[in-house]
Amino acid sequence: MSQVLFDYPQQDASGATCTAHAWAKVPEPLTPDRRTALMARAKTLLKERNAVLVAHYYVDGDLQDLAMETGGCVADSLEMARFGRDHASQTLIVAGVKFMGESAKILSPEKRVLMPDLDATCSLDLGCPADDFAAFCDAHPDREVVVYANTSAAVKARADWMVTSSCALAIVQHLKDQGKKVLWAPDRHLGRYIQENTGADMLMWNGACIVHDEFRGVELDLLRAEYPDAKVLVHPESPRSVVEQADVVGSTSQMLNAVTSMDAQTFIVATDNGILHRMRQMAPTKTLIEAPTAGNSATCKSCAHCPWMAMNALQGVVDCLERGTGEIFVDEPIRSQALGCIDRMLDFVKNNPASVQKPGFVKNIGAA
Ligand code: SF4
Repeated sequence: MSQVLFDYPQQDASGATCTAHAWAKVPEPLTPDRRTALMARAKTLLKERNAVLVAHYYVDGDLQDLAMETGGCVADSLEMARFGRDHASQTLIVAGVKFMGESAKILSPEKRVLMPDLDATCSLDLGCPADDFAAFCDAHPDREVVVYANTSAAVKARADWMVTSSCALAIVQHLKDQGKKVLWAPDRHLGRYIQENTGADMLMWNGACIVHDEFRGVELDLLRAEYPDAKVLVHPESPRSVVEQADVVGSTSQMLNAVTSMDAQTFIVATDNGILHRMRQMAPTKTLIEAPTAGNSATCKSCAHCPWMAMNALQGVVDCLERGTGEIFVDEPIRSQALGCIDRMLDFVKNNPASVQKPGFVKNIGAA
């Protein structure tokens, strides 16, 4: 078995610069009157334009509420892709980050895909440029190329499989069972977690999510001492020292499922704090505590909230519906090449529905 890190040296510098740029674009909070007016306008426009809002769990609570109240969805990236593809609307408003809009367009080229802010991206996507990634793949032609959803269409076009955190473990296990070696990109923490749980032979890109990378095991240990009865929910993009303290390791959907299905009253949540909006709606009697990050200091790029997700706002939804701004295009042949790896994942999940709740990915869930 080999596990070799492929170091991408520009990662840190570009991530920091782009984070500052992203925070500068996050809109100011709305006054109550302005919020009410924009919500009403967005609802009217969604109906008039026969459009549907597909939102990620990490975006602003107003956008999540708007999606739920207008027949759209709030979901993880796997469900967002499926929902957008299967919905009858010819216009999809994708509130999330750019790779989510691209995935929607790849799956539904005949539909119009609009986003509130096209600058909303992701440190994993930024840290995995298509040309460098192609060179990495070319150097290892004996490996099955598996990429996380958080990548550009051009990177997906070079891959054999796309995976999300809901199904990554099951798909890599499937490849290992077939005797295949894996080239994995771009999240090093999720890759390590999968490698340790499957024993697969994985060669890894060295990327990270700026939100999850900042959760700290030492601080979490101290917080758990304060709340000894709390169950700890951790997204596998987090460092090993945090994952090791988890009662449940899983995707955003799996973490939501844990909060509603486990008997515990208190949960410490190690993922983007945008998810707490939906968690509070689904489990209003439970106590939810944010897991600690590196701290609210110059070294903290996110403090548990993604600046690119935070760029999505009600005004942006209204703008793209009124003026057609923020349209996503994915050129051929990139689109059709990228479609192959997404379809392969969707087919796998359809044929193996238990794969998104695979035992082992969710630890100790029965011991609430
Ligand atoms: S939370 Fe992390 S993985 Fe998700 S979009 Fe932001 S930077 Fe990317």
